Amino acid sequence: MTRVFNFSAGPATLPEEVLRQAADELLDWRGSGMSVMEMSHRGKEFISIAAAAEADLRELMAIPANYKVLFLQGGALAQNAIVPMNLLRGRTVADYIDSGDWSKKSIKEAQKYCTVNIAASGKATGFTAIPAQSEWRLSKDSAYVHICSNETIGGLEYQWTPETGDLPLVSDMSSHILSRPVDVSKFGLIYGGAQKNMGIAGLTVVIVREDLIGQALPTTPWVFDYKAQSEAESMYNTPSTYPIYMAGLVFQWLKKGGGLAAMEARNIAKAKLLYDCIDASGLYQNKVAKGDRSRMNVVFTLKDDKLDAPFLKAAEAAGMAQLKGHRSVGGMRASIYNAMPLAGVEALVALMRDFEKRHG
Ligand SMILES: *Cc1c(COP(=O)(O)O)cnc(C)c1O
Repeated sequence: MTRVFNFSAGPATLPEEVLRQAADELLDWRGSGMSVMEMSHRGKEFISIAAAAEADLRELMAIPANYKVLFLQGGALAQNAIVPMNLLRGRTVADYIDSGDWSKKSIKEAQKYCTVNIAASGKATGFTAIPAQSEWRLSKDSAYVHICSNETIGGLEYQWTPETGDLPLVSDMSSHILSRPVDVSKFGLIYGGAQKNMGIAGLTVVIVREDLIGQALPTTPWVFDYKAQSEAESMYNTPSTYPIYMAGLVFQWLKKGGGLAAMEARNIAKAKLLYDCIDASGLYQNKVAKGDRSRMNVVFTLKDDKLDAPFLKAAEAAGMAQLKGHRSVGGMRASIYNAMPLAGVEALVALMRDFEKRHG
């Protein structure tokens, strides 16, 4: 068996220990005589799996007791609609910060439900910087402020938490959740798809402050109503059982690894190695403002895009996959989530240096 270093933005690489454990338990989960995939979501075995996953996530993120954790489906993109459906609470305006491709998608969807005030935009910088809070122009009667705290395509990340006072702060954390400690109490709602940094596709995690629940638009489908789902422990309908189990294994792996502070230290070291290589080179370039660079999604271009194909070929030959940048921006993107070992980033940096010697 040969496993490659997989730099995919998502679905993304998983910790090998987690995959091995899932394989070991595939046919018979801990003496139950069945696979997790075959269990009733209402049976005691699966209920224990979901409860342990929630408890571990609460511990990892130090989620305060007045927040609900929901295990939903539909991905982060569904939340782009579900958030306004649930959080407008009789208001008609919401503030959005436009920091790139994923915030734009959130804005476009929210416009179906409310008036979106784009309180700040990275447009003037060509989306190479996160708009500073001093530039934000929030509206008076807004229901909430929405950010995307890690722009997976542009490779930008908030290295700070906005202060929005009484206005609930909502963040799409899909591509950096669990990569660093966050103060959950600063947010009204946090959401993210699991397939970047928490597990596999099919699960969306929503962490929402209790007082924001219960005023959904009357047209909200029951399965998208945070109140219905929270009262039913995320089992109003059949949840995505196997992805919840896999996320639970990842949470256990994170706890064994020392939790989020330890993970953050490793992520800082990995990102520094890669950005230092880019900055020291004449061949590779990253245009993102240094203070706003993502630790998770490192984007870079080569001086001449004719070198893209040979670069990707050399990477493949050296056991590295999925480095091609998003189709909308081109160039390269190395997604170095929690599960990417330091050795993967070291291999990439060695390849980049060698390639530059030959083509720089
Ligand atoms: C991947 C991603 C999405 C889309 O998630 P889906 O699970 O495909 O709906 C949304 N936002 C961000 C920041 C992402 O990285």
